Amino acid sequence: MTALLEVSGLEVEFRTAEGIVKAVKGVDFTVERGKTLGIVGESGSGKSVTSLAVMGLHRAASSTVTGSVKFEGTELIGAVPETVRKLRGRRMAMIFQDALTSLHPYFTIGDQIAEAYREHHGGSRKAALERAVEVLGDVGIPEPRRRVHEHPHQFSGGMRQRAMIALALSCEPDLIIADEPTTALDVTVQAQVLELLKKLQQERGLGVIMITHDLGVIARVADEVLVMYGGSAAEQAPVDTLFASPRHPYTRGLLDSLPRLDAAEGEALSSIPGSPPSLLNPPPGCAFHPRCPVYAAEKNPLCTGERPQLRLVAEGHRNACQLDGVTA
Ligand code: SF4
Repeated sequence: MTALLEVSGLEVEFRTAEGIVKAVKGVDFTVERGKTLGIVGESGSGKSVTSLAVMGLHRAASSTVTGSVKFEGTELIGAVPETVRKLRGRRMAMIFQDALTSLHPYFTIGDQIAEAYREHHGGSRKAALERAVEVLGDVGIPEPRRRVHEHPHQFSGGMRQRAMIALALSCEPDLIIADEPTTALDVTVQAQVLELLKKLQQERGLGVIMITHDLGVIARVADEVLVMYGGSAAEQAPVDTLFASPRHPYTRGLLDSLPRLDAAEGEALSSIPGSPPSLLNPPPGCAFHPRCPVYAAEKNPLCTGERPQLRLVAEGHRNACQLDGVTA
């Protein structure tokens, strides 16, 4: 059966005054209907650029996207803009991090949902506003018939994010890409929004890509996890496997950085030393080697030779560490 979304060999480069920035280097993944792929990594890891490239939202004048992005078997890379435009919003929708800047301050919530709906389905403004009332109700906005006429500033942060989800759902998409959808919310509202997304996904069989730097969010919603570092995939596995048996030193570092309830009093939080790599002049070999505790201890030349690629290391589990399976 054809996957909902199949991405292979995706590369994104930006032309800058300083040179070519290789933001995404050969990323592969698939998203199935009813499943959530979590993409996790620090700022600059390439996770958001990957999602924008999938949606065809990169600036063609300053960037180059190569590889393959197939939506239900239809190739989007190199397709005529009309093909991508028809899919975007209608079949593939995106939820952004900051609802306040994503929603237009001058238009009512209802007008913004109605406009998106009419763009893809046509029909009267009245019918589209009815649809807006319906989806606002679906995402738990109280009194949707009254609130559909309110502006974004009249909604709380959590309600605005719900409105963004309603906007994404209004055209009944098959795939939703949620880019840090709960980062700006407090933990209680964050939990509510994640529960809502999960519920809607299960009810409608949506494929979801959840992009986040927060492993807590990944643990809550993802089926499969892709860990990105320096524009490349570092590790990929089912969520339970990744949390129980992380194999890449970067993934282990991320997990060790999580606060633990059983930590001894006064125990310092662990952190990954150093900073993410420059995408303009990345380190040779494994981009993680300047920060990697295994490399620091072993100075294995494999780490600074070829750039590591994801390879299968156990059933359903792929790792891009050169030393995985290599005995000293
Ligand atoms: Fe660390 Fe070497 Fe593995 Fe990279 S390839 S993660 S530097 S051990």
